[in-house]
Amino acid sequence: MTTLELTDEEWRQRLTAEQYRVCRLGGTEAPFSGQYAANKQPGVYHCSCCGKTLFDAAHKFDSGTGWPSFWQTAVASSVAMHRDTSHGMSRIEVRCSDCGAHLGHVFPDGPPPTGQRYCINSVALRFEPAVSSTATAGTASSDRELDTSGLNCPLPILKAKRELLSMAAGETLHVIATDPGALADFRAFAEQTGHELLLCEAREQTFHVVLRKV
Ligand SMILES: [Zn+2]
Repeated sequence: MTTLELTDEEWRQRLTAEQYRVCRLGGTEAPFSGQYAANKQPGVYHCSCCGKTLFDAAHKFDSGTGWPSFWQTAVASSVAMHRDTSHGMSRIEVRCSDCGAHLGHVFPDGPPPTGQRYCINSVALRFEPAVSSTATAGTASSDRELDTSGLNCPLPILKAKRELLSMAAGETLHVIATDPGALADFRAFAEQTGHELLLCEAREQTFHVVLRKV
């Protein structure tokens, strides 16, 4: 698992003032003020600081609290829990497991089947709507394919790496690239993150890499 570590000053420059206050200083946005409290669209919620997939809209419910509420995380490893005894309360703080961003708290008064209520600040999230009614990005579909061959810029490779980091264990992703450097790039990436490299080869004009999250 890769962890994004930036200095306080780097975070301050990268984030809006409100994002910085909530995510890096452990603040809370005013209820009903965030853009996602009432969002009912299908899709995936990412960490607004580092892009990690945190929650799926399929697990969102209307808690009436004014904050986006979920009864479970996208995958168990999405978040890290910490005991928070500030403000005279004993609560469980929820943080992004990759960059440590403060997201909100989890309470044991949620709906079935988990009984959990992840009470999350909108400003800590970035919503990505599902691409179509049949696609559910970020959930456990296997053998997804990401064709970057029509795009000659490094961005699709970064997108593929972000996808790989947010996948659940056992999921595989097939990346198709036009850049010959992609093979060495993904081989090094797999070594660094512990992904299993199932395929890494050149075919005609394109370069194919299949990685599995272990
Ligand atoms: Zn994060």
